[in-house]
Amino acid sequence: MQISKAKVYLVGAGPGDIELLTLKAIRCLRLADVILLDALVNREVLRFARADARVVEVGKRARCKSTPQQFIERLMIAEARAGRTVARVKGGDPYVFGRGGEEMQALQRAGISFEVVSGITSGIAAATEAGIPVTHRDYACGVTFITGHAKSGDEPNWRALAQSGTTLIIYMALARLAHIVAALIESGMSPQTHAAIIQNATLPNERKVFARLEVLNEYAMRAGIESPAIIVIGEVVSLASLRGVFNGEAVSTFPRTKIAALSSR
Ligand code: SAH
Repeated sequence: MQISKAKVYLVGAGPGDIELLTLKAIRCLRLADVILLDALVNREVLRFARADARVVEVGKRARCKSTPQQFIERLMIAEARAGRTVARVKGGDPYVFGRGGEEMQALQRAGISFEVVSGITSGIAAATEAGIPVTHRDYACGVTFITGHAKSGDEPNWRALAQSGTTLIIYMALARLAHIVAALIESGMSPQTHAAIIQNATLPNERKVFARLEVLNEYAMRAGIESPAIIVIGEVVSLASLRGVFNGEAVSTFPRTKIAALSSR
């Protein structure tokens, strides 16, 4: 990467654990005059920022509305045009959901030179760190990334997904979990399929719920699982190393290392 030539870096900061940040992301943070930070990015990344860097938080905070996408794009372009080096730091990988693709198009339209720095996407990190080998060849022929929160009106083809033989990794799905589970079961997926939900993956406040598909929503609610969370659906989930606790019953693990069985009723 010819770091000195570009004006905007679209940087993936990984799923949360600061140690999962890439060396290239750190290099961009060190270089930036202006850092635009998304809400899901661990604030610890700022330890790599220059002391005189301007930091702008542009993500959703608590119950406030998120900064309008247009504002973020305009700010990024204006700063670059002013000759400053901008690091636009996004959670996970910049091009996996989260509108990084739109930001790239805005930069292209404005004629601003940019580079993208890949990050570990939360869907992969959440599954792997939960002990789920997402493409184990005895159980799945691949993995599919889906958003549970598509542009209004757009519904994924649940039937095709249910029959795909791939592990499903669903982002932004909590609000529509009951609907998604019903759609998959109606489309022919076994209600007994193994599934997991991982909240705050790779962070100290990580929480996980493992359950069969048919009771996934019930157990997520019972455990009080909240956003941000990743949902993993597929037989590979049965391989998660839970020291024998997961044998068909739902279990919930929180915080990261403790495993506590939830009473089944
Ligand atoms: N570009 C990001 C995704 C942005 S969309 C990436 O590649 O990971 C935001 C969604 O990502 C959240 O609603 C949630 O589903 C997921 N997410 C991001 N960080 C997460 C984390 N640490 N744990 C669980 N889910 C996370």
